[in-house]
Amino acid sequence: SWTPPSSWTPPSSANHPLLLITHDGSGAATGFVEADAEHPHLNVHDLGVTRGDGIFETYSIGRGHVQALDAHLDRFARSARMLDLPQPDLGVWRDAVLEIGRRLADHEEAWVRTILTRGIEGHDMLTGWAQGRPSPDYRRERTEGLSVALLDRGLRSDVAQTSPWLLAGAKTLSYAVNRAAVREAQRRGADDVVFVSTDGFLLEGPNSTVVLRRGDTLSTPPVDFGILPGTTQGDLFAAAPEWGLQAVMEPLTPDDLHAAEAAWIVSSVRHVTPIRAVDGVERPIDASLSAAWNGYLHARLS
Ligand code: PLP
Repeated sequence: SWTPPSSWTPPSSANHPLLLITHDGSGAATGFVEADAEHPHLNVHDLGVTRGDGIFETYSIGRGHVQALDAHLDRFARSARMLDLPQPDLGVWRDAVLEIGRRLADHEEAWVRTILTRGIEGHDMLTGWAQGRPSPDYRRERTEGLSVALLDRGLRSDVAQTSPWLLAGAKTLSYAVNRAAVREAQRRGADDVVFVSTDGFLLEGPNSTVVLRRGDTLSTPPVDFGILPGTTQGDLFAAAPEWGLQAVMEPLTPDDLHAAEAAWIVSSVRHVTPIRAVDGVERPIDASLSAAWNGYLHARLS
């Protein structure tokens, strides 16, 4: 049995369902079992921990409905391919994610995360789990917006073609760099980050997609710039005609961001957050479109 360290305080909420995905030696998922999230389950030799060698997805849940489920599962499979992991059995993962959604249906907003690691070093057995929690309250940033710092990612916009082993655009467990970038932004007095390529193009946030509005056109950077294909941006762009907008993927620069009538960082759990300042320079926000989009995203049933 596990004895918690004396410094350990149990989370205040009991609402964190955890399902461990079971695998056979060939890498095929065989099902899932319920587990207690307050107890340890990972082996210290797990490559997900010792090397960050694995993938994840985070899905939003609105009143029990897991949102953009297919797009997330597709991206989970895409990340697995990029890391040469066995293809996840999406039927098993889907059932686990939907089960977590049902367990959190009492919450207005919640999230579920799926994680797949290369498993325990020296063993041919993958490690996987799906875990959920109620979401924090994001109302303030959704309405007031956030300030961002533009940070050089140190990669060219063609990195996915020239150096695919850097895994740019895969959702890997190695997010220490993304966290470090946010700390650097905070040192500069900003809340969040928009990465820029060494050849001067806007890329993405550490956990968000950048969207600009110029006139009645929405734009976002191309996925082949080594960025993650955003599921939230995908849903907003598919629905753009509902707001009389057209949507394009195109190369964008910091000048485009400064000049845009409105700009956002968008992501599954935080939804739509207006960018209200860039490198300390205030810029306008589109409060009514932000509110409409957040309402739309929250109401999604799938
Ligand atoms: N880009 C990165 C690097 C991310 O980690 C995320 C999500 O966390 C996104 C973009 C936005 O993707 P989504 O809208 O699917 O959450």
